[in-house]
Amino acid sequence: MKSNYLSRLANNVSPSPTLAVDAKAKALKAAGEDVCGFGAGEPDFDTPDFIKDACASALAEGKTKYAPAAGIPDLRKALADRYHQDGILPEANPAQVVISPGGKYSCYLAILATCGPGDEVIIPAPFWVSYPEMVKLAGAQPKIILAGDDQGFKVTAAQIEDALTPATKLIILNSPSNPTGCLYEKSEMEEIVELACKRDLLVMSDEIYEYLLYDGTTHYRPGSFSAEAADRVITVSGFSKTFSMTGWRLGILVANPEIAKAVASLQSQTTSNATTFSQYGALAAVQNWTSAMEAVNEMLIHFDRRRLMLLNGLNAIDGVSCLRSQGAFYLFPKIADLAMSSENFSNQLLEDKKVAVVSGHAFGADGYIRLSYATSDEIIEKGLSRLNAFCQEIS
Ligand code: PMP
Ligand code: GLU
Repeated sequence: MKSNYLSRLANNVSPSPTLAVDAKAKALKAAGEDVCGFGAGEPDFDTPDFIKDACASALAEGKTKYAPAAGIPDLRKALADRYHQDGILPEANPAQVVISPGGKYSCYLAILATCGPGDEVIIPAPFWVSYPEMVKLAGAQPKIILAGDDQGFKVTAAQIEDALTPATKLIILNSPSNPTGCLYEKSEMEEIVELACKRDLLVMSDEIYEYLLYDGTTHYRPGSFSAEAADRVITVSGFSKTFSMTGWRLGILVANPEIAKAVASLQSQTTSNATTFSQYGALAAVQNWTSAMEAVNEMLIHFDRRRLMLLNGLNAIDGVSCLRSQGAFYLFPKIADLAMSSENFSNQLLEDKKVAVVSGHAFGADGYIRLSYATSDEIIEKGLSRLNAFCQEIS
């Protein structure tokens, strides 16, 4: 037997805890258990028919070959037009748009293209589980700044400024946020972008939940604030969450020409293009924006109802308190008053009551748990009643 099969890198990377909880819940379900799953960050709707039809036609037409590594030209062009309208591309230049196999890979390439050994990356916590691991995979150092519910889970420019060192290269922003659902105000974003410009930093703005908004709120794109912001901000998004296309694996990255070119080269040497016929489905969504947004608005009606149902139910449980989120499909209640670590809480909850949630610990915030309400009203009702019983038992 060889003594060291794995590289140092492979030895140090941990598996995605969100995917792990989801896999565990699915395995329990498959074994016949009555599980209430709040684990996965995955919309429970089907992809809109007109998008599936466009993909099926592409398959029938033989769009089954390699495509240019950075994406099919029509999709890059359609997205460049869209992002030009939205103000993050000064000109509708398709060379600044890269389509990747999933937003997760877009994030990773944004980090890999800009950060390496000796660089520090500011990550506001609670954070999406994969950011710190991606930074470490790039050989750079994550620098975590915590924002609790007392500050609406949003870091301030002053907090970031305090954490800067000469090695800081990149700030990661994610609004609406996974796991908290919080949304930055325009002025809060502006202060952070101004700081990035003043201190010669880059920003990666992960906007994958950009269209999942509630309470009449607006999402602001940091890359649209000024010409300098457009140059310094790498915007990441994707089709997974907006159009319920998680399995299609399509991410979007928009950056200045130098970064976009480097990202395209990295992709051409690692994955090549995102699946060709998937991209034709996405193209139908972007080219038929009115129909696409109608489909999203239909999903939002259900998400919003579930959000409020879950929010009210959580706040009615003794020992649990939850901020009203304004985006995505997550709630991030505080359970710290129940005097149990969030990891033990979520493990025991799954074991005793068959309710799957993700521990706040995975998002860099112990004392909280994450619940995804991308699930049915029935599951929410049943899950809340089990959660209530569990909290009573442990308090
Ligand atoms: N960013 C955030 C904040 C996410 O929650 C996710 C969810 N998986 C992604 C990026 C990547 O999504 P995907 O790879 O499915 O496009
Ligand atoms: N982003 C989703 C989540 O947070 C899917 C899982 C993952 O990719 O980590 O649950």
